[in-house]
Amino acid sequence: MDCIFCKIIGGQIPGNFVYQDETVVAFRDINPVAPVHILIAPREHIGSLADITEERAGLVGHMAVVANQIARQMGIAENGYRVTINNGPEGGQVVPHLHMHLLGGRQLSGRLG
Ligand code: AMP
Repeated sequence: MDCIFCKIIGGQIPGNFVYQDETVVAFRDINPVAPVHILIAPREHIGSLADITEERAGLVGHMAVVANQIARQMGIAENGYRVTINNGPEGGQVVPHLHMHLLGGRQLSGRLG
């Protein structure tokens, strides 16, 4: 499958990994918009949040737990951070492999969209 995140996860193109386990990986965004900008993605190719059904709901919960853990490790937990999932073209999703953005390390705008 011609998916850039599958290639990063599979080691065919480099990724700056900060966390890995059996089901998810986390790596630094190549074009960070905040001092901390980490992407958390499942190893399995899942196109988007819209593909999450009840059977896979636990995976998204696990991604959130991993985001919290990385936020603590990176020292942004106390001041606060943002977790975002862009879904589909109008949702701002560019890479069609489910991922969570973990953003922090500066005051983020309260404005969404
Ligand atoms: P989204 O718009 O939610 O699909 O986010 C895709 C994100 O992937 C963007 O923030 C990109 O900067 C990031 N990105 C694209 N290619 C790479 C790459 N090779 N390594 C790390 N991050 C990437």
